[in-house]
Amino acid sequence: MTVHQSRILVVLPDVHVGQLVERVLKLSGYDALLCSDKAGAQKVFKTSPPDMVILADRIGNDEGIALGEEMLQACPALPVMLLVSRETSEILKQALRHGFTDVLSLPLRSEDFIHTVKKILLAAQRRKESILSQAKRTTDDLIRRLDELETLTRQGRSITGTLDLDNILKVVVDSAVSLTDAEEGSLMLLDEATQELYVRAARNFPDEFVRTFRMPVKDTVAGEVLRDGKPFLLDENTPTKIKTSYLVYSLIYVPLQVEGRSIGILGVDNCQRQQTFGERDVRLLSTLAEYAAAAIENARLFSNTLQEHKRLEMLLDNIQNGVIMLDNEQRVVLANQAAMGVFHLGKDVLGQPFRTVFQQPELLALVDAGTSGGQQTAELTVEDLILNARVAPVPQIGWVISLHDITHLKKLDQVKSEFVSIVSHDLRSPLTAIMGYVELLERAGPLNDLQRDFVRRVHVGVHNITSLVDDLLNLGRIEAGLDTLREKLDINSVLQALVDDLKIKMDEKGLVLILQLSKEPLEVCANPVQIRQVFNNLIENAVKYTLAGGEIRIASGRQANQAIVAISDTGIGIPPADLPHIFDKFYRASNIESSVVGTGLGLSIVRTVVERHGGRVWVDSTLGEGTTFTLLLPLDEQK
Ligand code: ADP
Repeated sequence: MTVHQSRILVVLPDVHVGQLVERVLKLSGYDALLCSDKAGAQKVFKTSPPDMVILADRIGNDEGIALGEEMLQACPALPVMLLVSRETSEILKQALRHGFTDVLSLPLRSEDFIHTVKKILLAAQRRKESILSQAKRTTDDLIRRLDELETLTRQGRSITGTLDLDNILKVVVDSAVSLTDAEEGSLMLLDEATQELYVRAARNFPDEFVRTFRMPVKDTVAGEVLRDGKPFLLDENTPTKIKTSYLVYSLIYVPLQVEGRSIGILGVDNCQRQQTFGERDVRLLSTLAEYAAAAIENARLFSNTLQEHKRLEMLLDNIQNGVIMLDNEQRVVLANQAAMGVFHLGKDVLGQPFRTVFQQPELLALVDAGTSGGQQTAELTVEDLILNARVAPVPQIGWVISLHDITHLKKLDQVKSEFVSIVSHDLRSPLTAIMGYVELLERAGPLNDLQRDFVRRVHVGVHNITSLVDDLLNLGRIEAGLDTLREKLDINSVLQALVDDLKIKMDEKGLVLILQLSKEPLEVCANPVQIRQVFNNLIENAVKYTLAGGEIRIASGRQANQAIVAISDTGIGIPPADLPHIFDKFYRASNIESSVVGTGLGLSIVRTVVERHGGRVWVDSTLGEGTTFTLLLPLDEQK
C-alpha cells in the first residue's frame, strides 16, 4: 500500500540551514522541496502545491511573511511555519495576524522541529477531514432536496399534462409517502351531504379499509384541518392526545383547498415506526396538496365543459337547420347532423380545411363574400334541395354557416305562380271581351246619364282588373326567367322617353319636374321592355303619391361601373313600419286610401327586374315629406 508522503516546501535563503532542514525532513519520511529564492518557491508552489510550507522571515531582499501571505491567499487551509533567526514580538504579531500556523526560531533541535511539523500536519489533516465530511453532508442534503424538487416538478407536469384523475391522485399519495418517508398515506375527500371524509387514493392501506372507511368531520382533527384550512403535525411534542380514528405515532394532515374552500385532506403517518415528521415534510405535503386540489378542480371543470359540449352537440344535432362552424383559418370545427346529411359528410371532416370538404361553387363564393364583408346570404341548390345559406361571424371562433331548407317554400311559390299565371291568362280574354262590349254599348243606342255613369264605372273596374292581370302575367314571366332578351340601351334615353309620355299627367296635376340626366349616355345590356317598365312604375308612383303642386326630380349618373338613377318626390311618404315590406307582392302602405287605384305589384316587378339584371334598388322615405327610390344597374362597358 502506498501511503501519501506529505510534501513540504522549504524556502530558506541560507543554503546550509536549508540542506540541514531538508535532510531532517527526508529522514523522517517527508518529501521535502528546497528553494532558496522567492521566484523558485512561487514556481514550485504553483506546479505542485505542497501540504505544508516552511519559510524564513527574510528571503534575499524579500519579506518571507509577504510570500507566506500570498500562499495563504491561494490556499487558506495551508499550514505555514515561519523559521526565524531571532524571534521578536513584532514578528510573532505579524505571523499571527496573517494566519501563520507556527513560528520557530533557530537554532533548533531536530526532534523538536520534526515533532512540531508532525503536529502541524496532523492538525491540518484533521481539519481537512472535518471540512470534507461537512461538505459531504451538505452535498447529500442538496441531492435529497434536488430529488424532492424533481419529484414535485414531475408531479406538476404530470398533473397539468393529464386528465386521468385517479392516476394523478395515486401518484400524489405515493409521492407524499416516499418524500416524507412515511409508512402510509391517504387522500380523503369531503362528502358534503354526510359531512364525512372518504378515501379517494391511498398507499399501504388495505383495500377493504379504503373502500369502507368514513371519518366524520365533527370533533376530529381532520375536521379541524378542513375548517381552519391549516396543516396539522402530530409528533412527540404534541401536547394533547388527539382523535384520529386510528392509532398513530406521528402524522401530518394538510388541507386540499380550491378557491379558499377545503375539499379534502392529504395525510401521511407512521403507526409502527417511532419516526417523527418535521416542518419540511409539512411543506412538501402542502405543495403536493396544491397539485392534487388543482387536478381535482381541473377534472371538475373539464367534466363540466364536456357535459356542456355534449348538451350543445345534442341541441345542434336536433335542430333541423344545418350548422357549419369554421375557425379563423377556415377549417371546419363543427358540423351538425343536418349539415352532414345534406353534404353526405362524416365526422372525419372536423379539422379539415373548408375548401377541401365542400365543393359547391355557390357555397364557396358565399363564404368568400361573407368573410370579406360582402354578401352574407345566398340560395344554394344541393341535389334536389334548395337551401337558404347565411354566413355570420362568431367572435373568437370564426364563422358560422347556417343552412335553412326552403325547398318546400320554393315549390309552393312555384305552384302559386303557375296558378296565378294560368288564372290571369284565362281572365285576360273575357276581360277583353267585356271591355269591347262596354265600348260598343254607346254605339248601340243612346244611354241616359245614369246608364252612362254605370258604363264608366264598369270601364274603370275592368281597366283595373286588366292592369292587375297584366302585372301578374308580367311578374310571372319575369320570375320564370322567360324574357331573356338582352340588348344595349341607354338609360337616359329610356328616362327621357318616359318623361315625355308622362308630362301631360304631371302638368294636369300641377307637378314640377326636375330632370338631371348625366351628359354621357349610360349604356346597359338589358331587356328594354322590362327596364322601361321599371322606370315607368317608379315615375308613375311618384306622380300618383305626390299631391298637386309637388315636385318630382329624376337624376341619373355614373358610379364606378354602374349607372345610378334616383327618382324623388315631395309626396306623402311611406310610414317607417311599412318600409321593409314595400317591395313585397300586393303590399300597399298603410297611409294609402283604398280609393287610390293600384295593385301593389309595381315595386315587386321593379325589384325582380333590377335583381335579374344584377342591380340593386332601395328606398328612403320620410312620412309626409317625400320619397326617393335609388337604383344601381351594371354598365355595359364592352366596346
Ligand atoms: P301600387 O300599385 O299600390 O302603387 P306599388 O308596388 O307600386 O303598388 O307600390 C307599393 C306601395 O308602395 C304603394 O301602395 C304605396 O303605399 C307605396 N309607394 C310606392 N311608391 C311611393 C311613393 N313614391 N310615395 C309614397 N308611397 C309610395
